[in-house]
Amino acid sequence: MEAGTETEGEAVGVRRFWEGLGLLGLVDVHTHFMPESVLKKVWAYFDALGPLTGGVEWPITYRAEEDERVGMLREFGVRAFTAMLYPHKPGMAEWLNQWAVDFARRTPDCLHTATLFPEQGVAEYVRRALDDGARVFKAHVQVGAYDPADALLDPAWGLLAEAGTPVVIHCGSGPSPGKHTGPGPVGQVLARHPRLRLVIAHMGMPEYEDFLDLAERFGEVRLDTTMAFTDFSEEFAPFPRRALPRLAGPPRPDGPPRPDGLRRHADLPRLAGLGDRILLGTDFPNIPYPYEHQLRALERLGLGEDWLRAVCHDNGARLFGL
Ligand SMILES: [Zn+2]
Repeated sequence: MEAGTETEGEAVGVRRFWEGLGLLGLVDVHTHFMPESVLKKVWAYFDALGPLTGGVEWPITYRAEEDERVGMLREFGVRAFTAMLYPHKPGMAEWLNQWAVDFARRTPDCLHTATLFPEQGVAEYVRRALDDGARVFKAHVQVGAYDPADALLDPAWGLLAEAGTPVVIHCGSGPSPGKHTGPGPVGQVLARHPRLRLVIAHMGMPEYEDFLDLAERFGEVRLDTTMAFTDFSEEFAPFPRRALPRLAGPPRPDGPPRPDGLRRHADLPRLAGLGDRILLGTDFPNIPYPYEHQLRALERLGLGEDWLRAVCHDNGARLFGL
């Protein structure tokens, strides 16, 4: 796409969103940056998706050079973002991690990201990535087609739990299931490492409620909003309305009633209140709609401005000590 005037116009809308909430900007825990050769393959996959499956088309909205893509996030006012990258085979993670060290060095607003795969030496290179300053990891159970409870990964999960380093994990069965996707295998990992800071990508789509159960059981589990609640995802994996109150809170009993008569989140049933453990994620640049749509999709949930401030900025800022 042509960068420039088009995204400048878009940036106005995105900025209006967070300025209206009185925020300093956005924290987006789920954006993709990876070596160009790998990203081209990812884009080719999405390009082929419609014709191959006879299913939904997935046009990449932000197909541009790397520096332009970084520039767009800055125009949008994203204070901190990530470089989600992931291997689909053994022997690849360490190379990706080396690339990510360099990317983080030349991109100070990127939270230094690393990845892992069940293979010999994984604990060693995870340790090295932590020593190099990695602040977040990405694990992709569907693309990697591995069992997250694989014994080979156990020492690596242990290191990450000990370090308190968040791991964004694509473990839900959307958009298509994998051999080891779903809440079961991840539940096994958490049973062994209850303090592990897993961030369930896509709100666990489409097994939303099972993953909310896990988050309610394990206090360090978080969820990212990536693609959830958007028109695109609601088509094939709608978030169950009955589960909405579980996303709210923690309640603020002192808040004044809203003059428009709409319910504040404090008025919603006081269940577990995961509102302080939900993090904005978008999947930029690999999304089939404009960036602002993810934000408006969160807004229209009607969980209130406190909730939006927490999700779009404060929860991430706290988690990463920004
Ligand atoms: Zn993603």
